[in-house]
Order: sequence, then C-alpha cells, then structure tokens
Amino acid sequence: MTLQVFGLPVSRGVAIGKAVLVASSRVDVAHYFINADQVESEIERLREGRDVVARELETLKREMPDDAPGELGALLDVHLLLLHDDALTGATKQWIVDRHYNAEWALSAQLEVLARQFDEMEDDYLRERKADVEQVVERLLSVLARGATSAIASGASHGGSGWGGEEPLVLIANDIAPADMLQFKQSVFKGFVTDVGGKTSHTAIVARSMDIPAIVGAREASRLIRQDDWVIIDGDAGVVIVDPSPMVLEEYRFRQRQSELERERLARLRHTPAVTLDGERVELLANIELPQDAPGAFAAGAAGVGLFRSEFLFMNRNGSLPGEDEQFEAYRAAVEAMQGLPVTIRTVDIGADKSLERMSINELRHEHTLNPALGLRAIRWSLSEPSMFRMQLRAILRASAYGPVKLLIPMLAHRGEIRQTLEQVARAKQQLRDAGLPFAEVEVGAMIEVPAAALLMPLFLRHFDFVSIGTNDLIQYTLAIDRADENVSYLYDPWHPAILKLVSDTIAQARLAGKGVSVCGEMAGDSAFTPLLLAMGLRSFSMHPSQIASIKQRILRSDTQKLRLHVHDILSSEDPHARYRELVDGEPSRTPALAA
Ligand code: PEP
Ligand code: MG
Repeated sequence: MTLQVFGLPVSRGVAIGKAVLVASSRVDVAHYFINADQVESEIERLREGRDVVARELETLKREMPDDAPGELGALLDVHLLLLHDDALTGATKQWIVDRHYNAEWALSAQLEVLARQFDEMEDDYLRERKADVEQVVERLLSVLARGATSAIASGASHGGSGWGGEEPLVLIANDIAPADMLQFKQSVFKGFVTDVGGKTSHTAIVARSMDIPAIVGAREASRLIRQDDWVIIDGDAGVVIVDPSPMVLEEYRFRQRQSELERERLARLRHTPAVTLDGERVELLANIELPQDAPGAFAAGAAGVGLFRSEFLFMNRNGSLPGEDEQFEAYRAAVEAMQGLPVTIRTVDIGADKSLERMSINELRHEHTLNPALGLRAIRWSLSEPSMFRMQLRAILRASAYGPVKLLIPMLAHRGEIRQTLEQVARAKQQLRDAGLPFAEVEVGAMIEVPAAALLMPLFLRHFDFVSIGTNDLIQYTLAIDRADENVSYLYDPWHPAILKLVSDTIAQARLAGKGVSVCGEMAGDSAFTPLLLAMGLRSFSMHPSQIASIKQRILRSDTQKLRLHVHDILSSEDPHARYRELVDGEPSRTPALAA
C-alpha cells in the first residue's frame, strides 16, 4: 500500500530506490561500505566478535554467584542460543556479502529486521524476546567497537563503495551524524531521509553538498519504512512516497529526467562570468568539507573556496587528531586543486552537532554537555587547546606557500577572543620562521555568526582583513532556535526582519570600511535570496559547488540598480518575505506571515 511521509526538504531533486534502513541502536555504530576484497575479513571480524561474546557469556554463567536467581542462568543460555542462531549471525553475514556493509552496520540492519518480526508476534512472551536479541546485538557491537579500530579507520578513509549491485539504494535513518554522512559521501546512495534534523543541521549541509535529494525531520520515516521497500524521495516537496503505484513512479521518473536536462542546461554556464545586467561582477565561491571536494569546486567554475570546513578532517579517527604534517598535506591538496584561486580555510568548528567522537554507550550515559550549541564550540574549543590551535594555524600557514590562502575564524563574539586568536596567529608565524618553514601573506577573517559580532562590526573591522557571514548560526543564535532540532524548525526563518537587518548592516559596514565581505551560510546558495543579497551590496557568495550554476543564472538576470530601490522598503516591512515577493518577484504574497 502506498504511504506518504512528510519532512523538511533540504536537498532538491527526485531519488527513486530501495530503502536501506540504518537502525538507531543505543550503541552508536559506524556505517560504511567495504570493498569486495574485504568481505572475507569482515565476516571473520564478525565471527571473532561472536566468539568473544560467547566466551564472555560462558564466563558469566560459570562465575555466577550461588545465590543468583535461577532465571539468570536461563537467560544467559537464551543469549547464547540467539548468538549462534542463523537468523542473527547467518543473516548478518548475508548483508556483508550482498551489500558490502561493514559488520556493525550489517548487524544493526539485521536487528532491525528481527525487531519488526518480534513486534508482529501475537504471543506476549515471544514478543518480549526482542529485548534479548537487542541485548545480544549490543554486546556484539560493543565487542566489535573495542577491536575494530583499524577496520573503521580504513573504511572511513578509503570511503569503500563496495556495493556493486544494480538496484539504486536510498538511505533511511533515525539520524545520521555529520561524521557518518561524510563516509557516505563517496557511496552509492541516491538519496537520504532522516527522522530528525533541521534544514541547516550539518547532516543536511553534507547531504546538500553531495547534491542528492534529501529530507530531514521526517519523524516517523525509519519506523514506517522497511528494509528494501521501494521509495521515492521528493527533495523539492519534502515527501517520501513508500511503495508507489506504477503511475506515480512514472510521473516521478519523468520529473527526474526533466531535472537532469535542467542540470545539463545550467552546466553550460560554467565558464560564463557572474555579472549582473547592470555590469556588477559577482564572486561565486565554493564551500567544501574535504580536500577531495576541491577539484569538483574548480570544475563547477568556483572563483575559489570561500569556506573549507576543516573540522571534517578531524572526524572518524577514533580519538586521534590529525597532526601538523597530515593537516598541511590536506590543506595543500585543496590549495593545489584550486590552481591559483584563493582557498579560505576555517579553523575547526567542533562542538554542537559536530562532535569528534563516535560515543560508546557508556559515554552516552555520562554525556553531560547541557547545551552543546552554546557550549565549548569552534574558536572556544580551539582557544581551550592552544597548542592544538597553533598546530592547525601552522599547517594552514604552510599551505599558503603553494597558493593563495585565507584564514577564517568561526564563532567569535568577544574582544578577548579576538585578541587571543590574533596572538596565536602571530605565535604560529614566529614558530614557522624559527623553523625556517616558508609561508606567504595570509589574510585573516572573522565569521560573523553570533549576533554580538554583527552588532560590533567596527571592532571586527578594525582587527580583521575580511568578514564572512555565517547565516546558519546567525539565525540559530538570533532567533534562539536549535538549527538541528526539527521541533522548532518552523521558527527557523531566514526572512525574519531581525536577520535581514543584521545581514544588511554587516554588509554595509564592511563595504564602508573597504573590507571584503561574503556570505557563506546556506542563504548564499538559496536563489530566493540572491536578488535581495545583491541589493544589499553583497558581491561575494560562497555555497556548495552544485549550487553555483543556478545562483549564477539568477545573477545574470538581476539588475542591482533596480533592486537597490526596494531594499529599504523590504527591510522596514513587518513581513519582508511578502513585500519582497510583491516588489521583486512581482507576485502577491500567498504565504501567511510566519513570524508575525
Ligand atoms: C554558518 O553558520 O552559516 C556557517 C557557514 O558555518 P557552519 O554551517 O559550518 O556552522
Ligand atoms: Mg557556523
């Protein structure tokens, strides 16, 4: 029976494929594809893990105190039986063979299948055995995690894309951590759906950077959709259609072909300069997560990298952080791939929804960060680890010997942070001079993403060479809305007059001071905002490479002289979105004023 599930559209287009469900286990497991030649060793890893668990359970049984209740022994026997049952380990092995999942993923996929079978059982006693299966699987996952260090790391770095099957696959999960999204970056999935998440959560941002349809905040999706169901992901409307009728399928296949044609048409703009109708030149830069993204950015016609989110280099490493030389090589690779175009490298923005570690169940229990978005994040984290921070600064500075590099600092708000940051930059430079290592002149910029920074532009403009507006966080912190929380996503409103005022004032003040200003938040890649940002005076936009062509098209059709006349009117309106549509898009508003 056809079913529809609604969520927030975060990446456009249509994907059609078979559902791969990633179960939300209480133990956070790695999900990655292994290569065909790793299947045997992965099965061996699973077998070894199973043997370790079996020995643990047998030891527990043997060493049970005399006064322990009799049921405990019986329970351990049940767990041992389950552990050796073909429905668990045999079927798990099959996921590894057929789909090339890593052992942990295969186990959690099989747990999902078994859990549903138990849920459908009539008999109460049997239904409750589900908890036993879950406990056995969690025990096995913990054992694999303890001994699986090298396998996880190699899976992440090789980005194994082993699945060589014919059928297109789409991923359905309760949640996907940004670190896991990164591993899926080179994988086979044609689309993503998650139960949780907001439009500018980092999971959504990575999905968008992959340029495949994605929906987040679809609440019930991972409960309603089953392994191997056929689904359509409509990334424009935010709808997932499960088990579609042939007619609906045909309609969506048609739409897929149409958007493919549109993409090809837009790709022809690659070498066309981004100039408005009235002759204003606009710089279109790329946001990247890894050095491997840089060639794609160059090929898309980016004028440089406006935001390299360096924290992604620090993920999926099982606790070890990249050293100076490893970081330097990564930055140098990005710089060289851009062939003389500038690369803006942001120092790590760790914290909030981008945690470094995959957490074990024990750490989950002891997690005590109360409010991660307001906690030790980004520059706060870097300043709390000064030697790590200087190591990153040295690595970035060293890359500048191979092409133009700019340094960007996230989440600054305080005068003291500015002073400390610039002191660390000066010390890192001195250390390089002392070591005789070359580096070039590097402009230093500040992200404007905390309202306090936007309100203190003269201070920032005195200390920095350029600013870059991070609208994702600026909206989160101005409107007090967790950008990753789908429960308040209806309040995440980039059209809110307070946001537009902060963005417009920041642009105006930077221009007046003769300093560079760009927008690198998701607003820059949303063509609905292009004319307004141009009218505010913005001439530098940084976005996912896949968005460059459509933003360019919008720029080619814009006249900044005409648009400028409307800015005051729009900004002073109670409902800027409605006013914008009347004045610029020539449409009377149909949307109710969201934030009125
Ligand atoms: C932003 O906040 O707008 C931004 C570009 O940084 P990030 O999305 O990585 O927080
Ligand atoms: Mg930010």
